[in-house]
Amino acid sequence: MPHATPLIATIVAGLTLAFLFGALAHRLRLPPLVGYLMAGVAVGPFTPGFVADQSLANELAELGVILLMFGVGLHFSVRDLMSVRKIAIPGALVQIAVAVAMGIGLAALLGWSLAGGFVFGLALSVASTVVLLRALQERKILDTDRGKIAVGWLIVEDLAMVLALVLLPAIAQGGGGSALGPVIALTLGKVIAFVAFMLIVGRRLIPWVLHAVVHSGSRELFRLAVLAIALGVAFGAAMLFGVSFALGAFFAGMILAESPLSQRAANETLPLRDAFAVLFFVSVGMLFNPHVVAEQPMALAATVAIIVVGKSLAAWLIVLAFRHSGTTALTIAASLAQIGEFSFILATMGFELKLIPAMARDLVLAGAIISILLNPLLFSIVARIGRKQLPAAPTADDTPVKAPRGHVVLVGFGRVGSRVAAKLLEAGERVTIIEAERDVAGLPDHPNAQLLIGNACEAEQLDQARLGEARLLCVAIPEGFEAGRIVEQARRANPAIRIVARANDDAEVEHFARMGADLSIIGEREIARTMIEDALKKG
Ligand code: AMP
Repeated sequence: MPHATPLIATIVAGLTLAFLFGALAHRLRLPPLVGYLMAGVAVGPFTPGFVADQSLANELAELGVILLMFGVGLHFSVRDLMSVRKIAIPGALVQIAVAVAMGIGLAALLGWSLAGGFVFGLALSVASTVVLLRALQERKILDTDRGKIAVGWLIVEDLAMVLALVLLPAIAQGGGGSALGPVIALTLGKVIAFVAFMLIVGRRLIPWVLHAVVHSGSRELFRLAVLAIALGVAFGAAMLFGVSFALGAFFAGMILAESPLSQRAANETLPLRDAFAVLFFVSVGMLFNPHVVAEQPMALAATVAIIVVGKSLAAWLIVLAFRHSGTTALTIAASLAQIGEFSFILATMGFELKLIPAMARDLVLAGAIISILLNPLLFSIVARIGRKQLPAAPTADDTPVKAPRGHVVLVGFGRVGSRVAAKLLEAGERVTIIEAERDVAGLPDHPNAQLLIGNACEAEQLDQARLGEARLLCVAIPEGFEAGRIVEQARRANPAIRIVARANDDAEVEHFARMGADLSIIGEREIARTMIEDALKKG
C-alpha cells in the first residue's frame, strides 16, 4: 500500500515525525530545528524502521529552499545593509576567507582535494539565518546596533553563498582545468541576464500583478499570486537561465520587498514556508549518517572547532579592529558561531557534484547540529562576560529599581494594544510590551516603556517581562487560543496579578475565566454599548 502513495507517505511521515521530535526538542528547551533533523535521521536509511523516499524528500526539500530563499529576499533591505556595510562587507568576507582556509587545511589533513576543501570551508563559513534571527529575537537585540551588524553580516554571507551555489556546478564541470574560465564566464553571463531581466521586466510586472490582485479584494487570490510569483520565478529562472531555484526565488522576494505589499506577501507565504522548511530539515536529517560521530571523532571535533572557535575568533577580532565595543564583538561572534540551512544546501550540492566525499557532508551535518546546540550556551557566556555593559533584558538577579507600584505587561501592540499603551504611559505607568512583529508601526520610545519582541506564548517572554513583579497583565491580541495560553501561563507564574484579556465571544470569556483571567472584554459588545449610549444621548 505505501508503494501506491510514496509522495503522501513521505509528506505524512516527514511532518508527523517532525512534529513529534520538534515537540520533544521544545520540551528539552532545544531549538525545534534539532528535532526536525532528528526526525529525518529517524526516517533515514541509517536507522532501522521505516525509510522514506529520499528522492521525493529531496524534491520536497527543494520547495522548502525556494520558499526560504524567497523569505530571505523579502527581508533583504538594501537600506539596512547600507547602514552597516562598512563593517559587514569586509567582516563577512574576511570571516569566509578564514573559514575556507581552515576548511582547506582540515581537508588536506584528511586527504581530500583542494576543491573539496574549498567547498567544505565555504559550507562551514555561512551561519544559519533561521538560528541567528531566532537567537537575536529571543534576546531582544535584533534592533540594536550589534543586532543590525550581525544581520547585515549574515546577508553578505548569504549573497556570497548564492553566488557560490551558482558557480559550484560550473566549477565541477570545469573540473578545475583550463576549461574553467569559459564555463564560469557563461554561468555569470546567464546570471547577469537573469538579474537584468528581473530588474527591467520583473520589477515592473510583479508589483503590477500584485496590486491588481489586491484590488480584486480576494485574500485567497493574493496568497495564490504570491506563491505563483515565488515558485514561478524560481522555476522560470532555472529553466530559462539555468540559475538555481534558490537564486530565482531570492530575486522574486527582493523585488517584492520594495513593494508596500511585501509585509503582507511575507505573511501569506509563512505557513507554507514553515511547513516545507520543516521538510527541508527532515530531508537533510535523512542524509546524515550518524556513524560519522563514532568513526571520525577527531575530524568532527576539528569541524566543530572551526565553526564555534575559529570563526568566532575571526569575527571577534574583525569587529574589534573596526573599533566597536567588546560587547558588540562578542555578540556578533556568538551569533555567527553556527551553521545551518545554507551549509546543508552547499554540502549536498558539493556531494552531488562529486566535489566532496560523503564524509565531508556528514561532518557538515553533524557540525551544524552540534553548533546549533551549543549556540544558546555561547550566548549565555557572552551575557556573563558582558553583563556590566549589556543593556539586555533585566533578569531575576538584576535588582529592579525600587518602585511603589508594579508595572503593567501588555501583550500585543496592534489596534488595541497601541491605544492602551499610549494612555497608560500618559498616566505615568511603566509598561512592558510584548509584541510578536518587529515591524509594527509606532512602537513607543518612552523612558517608561520597555519593548520585547517575541511571542508571548513562550514562557521566556513572560519571564523577561518580569511578570512576577507586575501588577497587571493586559492581553490585547485577537487570537483566542493563544490568548488563553498566555492567561494560563501568567496565572501560574503570578497568582496575584490582575489579568484582563481581549475576547471574541462568550465561549472565549468562559475559557479565559477558567484559565485565570479576572476580566475579559468582547469588542463587539463595547461597540454596541457605545452605539447605544450615543443613540440614547439626551439632547
Ligand atoms: P490588533 O488586532 O490590531 O490589535 O493587533 C494585534 C497585535 O498583537 C498584532 O500586532 C500582533 O502582531 C500581536 N500579537 C498577536 N499574537 C501575539 C503573541 N502571541 N505575542 C505577542 N504579540 C502578538
